[in-house]
Amino acid sequence: MRLHTKILLGLLLGAAVGIGANLGLGGDHPAVVAIDTYIAAPVGQVFLRMLFMVVMPLVFASIALGVAGMGDIRKVGKVGAKALAYFLATTALSGTVGIAAVSLFEPGKGLDPAVRAELLALYAGQAGEKVTQSQAGGFGIDTLVGIVTKNPLRSAVEGDMLGVIFFGLLFGIALTLIDEARARPMVDVLGALEDAMVKIVEIAMRIAPLGVAGLVFGVTARFGFALLEPLGGFVAVVLGGLAFHGLVTMSVLVVALLGLSPRTFFRRVRPSLVTAFSTSSSAATLPTNIKVAEDDLGVPPKVAGFVLPLGATMCMNGTALFEGVTVLFLCQVFGVDLSVGQMVVVVAMTVLTAVGAAGVPGGSMPLLVGILAMFGVPGEAIAVVLGVDRILDMARTTLNVLGDLVGAAFVARSEGAWTPADLPPLAVEPPIDQSPDWPKEDEIVPRLSPVRPPEER
Ligand code: ASP
Repeated sequence: MRLHTKILLGLLLGAAVGIGANLGLGGDHPAVVAIDTYIAAPVGQVFLRMLFMVVMPLVFASIALGVAGMGDIRKVGKVGAKALAYFLATTALSGTVGIAAVSLFEPGKGLDPAVRAELLALYAGQAGEKVTQSQAGGFGIDTLVGIVTKNPLRSAVEGDMLGVIFFGLLFGIALTLIDEARARPMVDVLGALEDAMVKIVEIAMRIAPLGVAGLVFGVTARFGFALLEPLGGFVAVVLGGLAFHGLVTMSVLVVALLGLSPRTFFRRVRPSLVTAFSTSSSAATLPTNIKVAEDDLGVPPKVAGFVLPLGATMCMNGTALFEGVTVLFLCQVFGVDLSVGQMVVVVAMTVLTAVGAAGVPGGSMPLLVGILAMFGVPGEAIAVVLGVDRILDMARTTLNVLGDLVGAAFVARSEGAWTPADLPPLAVEPPIDQSPDWPKEDEIVPRLSPVRPPEER
């Protein structure tokens, strides 16, 4: 069985068992809590941690190598500008889809004021936390200055990906400016570092089916369908909007920008989509994404390594759509009417904040609170949607990651570095429990005879 089929099975199994436990016993039944605490959550966390472990070294190495590989700063500028234009255009498009959907269906008009009060009370504490985070780290001129990191190591330690990206960019540029003979050993080291990180991802992906099942069990066992009822309209609009943008808009882009059939494209990138869905984090999905872009789409490493890390923090189609829907939904709930001009401002803000949001679970929440305040909705109103955020986060992160992959292939194609004909033949995966270089069980030769090297087999 292929690895991504196993991951998908893990996802379905985790969800089915989780929902079953929630409906049968209840989310806070001691047995359910115990299974989550001692089995599901630890397995899920080990998987997640293995992905997070490689993010910072991988981002640094792949950006620096990507830039150094282009060899010429003007080219870096051109590729960077193309990537940025793609990020902003598609993010604005998806923010607009969200706003159109929420204006059309108006899910906020139907929410019972009693339910609103109940949800506000239930999540007041968490919402207060987000409001504090938003006040501490809103989007402003400091955010931009902050990208120029003072200390790249501290940025890496604190998970400040934009700081690491900036340092990686400069490092790569500097490598192209020094004597080639001096730069070569460093480029080799970076290449080896990147390869090793990707290898760790491969190892992590081997436990992905279990990890994904554990993560999804935790979410579904805790929440079940309980919150879906009062917020059903809102959830349906967000998921419907994401599905529309993911399946329709993105398919059009795949055909128009890449010249590929959407079916082929979606089938190739499935491991990335499943990882994004189960981790709710673009940053955690980045290593898988780089591997998928290079191995399954055939995008050259120097473009994939450059565009995908940027995309993981800057290109968030799903997040912009979610933010647009949420802002308008909460305006409807709290009776704030917005003019068309204000809606345009909402789209602009969703694009900016989607660029600024961190690619971690719930990364957009503090920024969302900031936008709400701009339109006279109390930041605490976020409490109304916090309960259902996890499932929406899973779905929007999937779209974020999909957008990154289309972007990487688009930039590569426009640079003449990739064409649809470069799609590699589908690799035959080794069985999950055997390293590709080890002899298969039935090939294991008698003990004392030397194991044949792989190329002879
Ligand atoms: N979880 C999202 C991501 O990593 C960010 C967000 O919308 O909260 O892409």
